[in-house]
Amino acid sequence: MSSGIVIIGGGQAAGWAAKTLREGGYDRPISVVADEPWDFYERPPLSKSVLSGSAPSLTRLFSEEAQAALDLTWYRPLRAEQIMRSQQCVMLSNGQRLPYDQLLIATGSRPRLPGGAWQHQPRIHALRSWDDALALRAAFADCRRLAVVGGGWIGLEIAASARQNGIAVTVFERQPALCQRSVDPAVSAALLALHQQHGVELHLDCGDIQLSQQQALPQIGSTHTAAQPFDHVVVGIGIELNLELAQQAGLAVSNGIVVDEQGRTSDPAIFAAGDVACHPQWGFSLQSWAFAQNQAIATAQAMLDSQAAPYQDLPWLWSDQYDVNIQILGLPAAGGTTVMRTQPGGPLWFRLGEDRCLQQLVAFNDARSIKLAKRWMASRRPLDAAQLADPHFSLMSLR
Ligand SMILES: Cc1cc2nc3c(=O)[nH]c(=O)nc-3n(C[C@H](O)[C@H](O)[C@H](O)COP(=O)(O)OP(=O)(O)OC[C@H]3O[C@@H](n4cnc5c(N)ncnc54)[C@H](O)[C@@H]3O)c2cc1C
Repeated sequence: MSSGIVIIGGGQAAGWAAKTLREGGYDRPISVVADEPWDFYERPPLSKSVLSGSAPSLTRLFSEEAQAALDLTWYRPLRAEQIMRSQQCVMLSNGQRLPYDQLLIATGSRPRLPGGAWQHQPRIHALRSWDDALALRAAFADCRRLAVVGGGWIGLEIAASARQNGIAVTVFERQPALCQRSVDPAVSAALLALHQQHGVELHLDCGDIQLSQQQALPQIGSTHTAAQPFDHVVVGIGIELNLELAQQAGLAVSNGIVVDEQGRTSDPAIFAAGDVACHPQWGFSLQSWAFAQNQAIATAQAMLDSQAAPYQDLPWLWSDQYDVNIQILGLPAAGGTTVMRTQPGGPLWFRLGEDRCLQQLVAFNDARSIKLAKRWMASRRPLDAAQLADPHFSLMSLR
């Protein structure tokens, strides 16, 4: 009898892979091993509408009926503890062994946390799961002063949501600029101004951050700032990929599980998708909603048909902070120049390479230009910096 497909992880990549397998006609068993008790759900609202209070419940990936129609066998809340490649089976935390014909690893990532005194403190939070979001939302109810450690995307979204709840927010960032790894300094400066306009106190280049206690409240100080007490602290200093299963199974791992353009790992019966996968095109894992969905779809198609089209996409992610929708297309690259365009809806920053082709576009409240830029990037169209910067020049004329 066929063992079918086992998917490890019950997140976004797992959900889209399961759906694609069924839509592609896969009629054998699909088992999902998930350590969270919930149906597939969206994580982006957790730091935005769930915290700001406008989305009180879990945002499902699929309706209840649509998910039931996938006819999945769930093993939850349970962890996959080991992949036994020679026997083609997965060992679960309850001791059960699940055999597989093909295996998909979609274990995602977890927040990076400082150790020591930062651990097991009820007033210190991180945000990854629905449970984390509920705990943080409850904390907001008795919070007058919040410290956010880390000025990356998640930290800034939490800061914005806290301000929308009337909470005083202080952000501590060790780097000299916000979101330094993913955007140009000019964009970092605009993010800084945005948060300052909304009353956030930001300490950039703050040096080492120390935690102490003052009358049961956490106290945060740094090399360059005096220690001060907060009601709650959120740590948003990046993520760790959940790579342990793949490493223990001896799969090739480097900046994520190494996969080909069809999501296949170094073992042809095992695939990987989402945050945990390192894409050959970019050489690292891109933790974005679009990648988790689209690369998982391409991987599931390849699990059904080895001739399926390889995954190809441009890196794209978004963030919502206050009333600004920020979209980022492409990756920052060394060399080249940044051209800013000031326009009524919100600014655009174009990063042009030495060949005048677009490497990255960051847009505040302008999804239309992102759509257009996808075409320029795909066709490697050279662009004119003066035209891009001129608000009277219509970008649509470059269609
Ligand atoms: C708060 C938040 C806000 C975000 N906002 C944005 C945004 O605005 N824009 C954007 O582009 N991206 C955003 N992202 C990123 C995006 O949500 C992720 O890239 C995406 O969820 C990754 O999907 P995944 O399936 O790879 O991993 P996950 O969604 O993390 O799912 C992996 C699942 O596997 C489980 N798991 C791990 N190990 C095991 C095991 N051994 N056994 C069983 N289960 C296991 C995990 O607990 C988890 O449930 C955000 C992420 C977070 C956390």
